Amino acid sequence: MSFQIECPNCGPRGVWEFHFSGPAGGERPPQTADAKTWTNFIYNKSNVRGVQTEWWYHRSACKLWFLVERNTATNQVLGSKRYALGQSAGLDKAGEEQGTPQP
Ligand SMILES: [Zn+2]
Repeated sequence: MSFQIECPNCGPRGVWEFHFSGPAGGERPPQTADAKTWTNFIYNKSNVRGVQTEWWYHRSACKLWFLVERNTATNQVLGSKRYALGQSAGLDKAGEEQGTPQP
């Protein structure tokens, strides 16, 4: 199934121009955390059927990492935004989808 994502720099483009990097959110462990904590943070993501906020990378154009709110059941894209350090990774949903950028 093909759909479009709106890059904050370039506008709407086909999904094949982007790289999906998983759901946003979750508290990033401190650098001193043990391997088990880091493994859990990196690999144990929720598998939501419905709306979630995700990290996407515009690999074919501007190379921007940004956030997309997408319904995983329908691939409907509900919004996208730039991430700014110090801001929640959520898309203006207080109490939901908070986190820090992924590597
Ligand atoms: Zn772009």
